Amino acid sequence: MIERMSGDNKQIIVVATRNMGKVREFRHALAPFGKEVRSLHEYPEAPEVVEDGNTFAENAFKKAKQIGDFLNLPVLSDDSGLCVDLLDGAPGIYSARYAGEHGDDAANNAKLLSELMRLRQGDDTEQPLLSTARFVCALVLYDPSDESSIQSEGEVEGWITSETAGAGGFGYDPLFYVPQYERTMAEVSVEEKQQISHRGVALGRLIEQLK
Ligand code: IMP
Repeated sequence: MIERMSGDNKQIIVVATRNMGKVREFRHALAPFGKEVRSLHEYPEAPEVVEDGNTFAENAFKKAKQIGDFLNLPVLSDDSGLCVDLLDGAPGIYSARYAGEHGDDAANNAKLLSELMRLRQGDDTEQPLLSTARFVCALVLYDPSDESSIQSEGEVEGWITSETAGAGGFGYDPLFYVPQYERTMAEVSVEEKQQISHRGVALGRLIEQLK
């Protein structure tokens, strides 16, 4: 029999990620709903899904379905990234591997600054160009027991700063300046990030559909 409930009788939801930054945020957001949030660290046998969709939503659906069908458990999948206006929306769906290796946050941040620096061309200012940007998150919750799924999306607008600030969050957070907070996403608390972030907004919309 498939174990769909945890030892303390909470419904298990597997978050289709190994990114501990994302896992922390999902645990925090879903704690009030009495769900047991597990990650792929607890299911090392789960398949590696090739993220070859053209949109965040396509990739999120593919991950949720393949992993949900494999584990026979409800799976919440997130595909997210950063879209920078002066870079025509890059790194977008390639955010995790912008600098080559998947998930190398420091290299990705360095590449982002060097791409914005390159746009200076000819101008002798030593700072990267300031650009507006947004984080985007597509979520899919898939239940293999009846093959049903629900989806949502969220976005948050901000600016790319010229140098990193803050030690919280993950990924591009230290370069993402949030006007509402007048700090970068890496300088705010998990609660503050949750309230306005692309993932927080998408989760709120998903939870509305579940009610
Ligand atoms: P995914 O795991 O394929 O969805 O890749 C997501 C990538 O987008 C991460 O590796 C980060 O580089 C970036 N990203 C997504 N969400 C966030 C966030 O909340 N803060 C900072 N970077 C993020």
